[in-house]
Amino acid sequence: MGFSVGVLALQGGVAEHAEAARAAGAEPVLVRRPEELASVDALILPGGESTAMTKLLAVTELAEPLGERLKGGMPAFGSCAGLILLAEAVDPPDERTRNYGAIDITVRRNAFGRQVDSFEEDLDVPELGPDPARAVFIRAPWVVRAGPGVQTLATVASSDGAEPKIVAARQGNILVTAFHPELTADIRWHALFLSMARA
Ligand code: GLN
Repeated sequence: MGFSVGVLALQGGVAEHAEAARAAGAEPVLVRRPEELASVDALILPGGESTAMTKLLAVTELAEPLGERLKGGMPAFGSCAGLILLAEAVDPPDERTRNYGAIDITVRRNAFGRQVDSFEEDLDVPELGPDPARAVFIRAPWVVRAGPGVQTLATVASSDGAEPKIVAARQGNILVTAFHPELTADIRWHALFLSMARA
């Protein structure tokens, strides 16, 4: 049996993540039910809408088993709304989003502001090698606080003129991006996640 990577398939960029995981050498498994979650070695949480995903996690009875798996050390990769679910907290607080605390970061939702709902940028990501990584941001969050155990992987200059904002990070076997690597042909983020997950 190969290494099976689940893709939380409630909402958002599910097919694109499954495709990228396959291209990076994993067997993607779509996760919609607790039995499917129990069967996977690692999990990708796609982008979408964190409030809607929070509701769907409850309806599908995945919310608590997901918390248990994350507490048990399951490797996870969250993009955009997935990052919000894996974070410790959102600021300002919002009860409509569940935050599992798998990575010690606090994040601001829709942080780039309404004028720039979506944009693309080439990011410098030393962890991925010398070539820049194209990043697609869609109503993206950014990280407002990162704990001491968190490694910053990429930042962008902020629209508020303050210090650069963290938009990709890892802690242990948890990887998060505020943008959508699955919407580009670049599979290096998925490859990085697989190497973290297998380690
Ligand atoms: N703004 C969305 C949220 O708060 C995230 C957007 C995305 O995943 N592209 O959940």
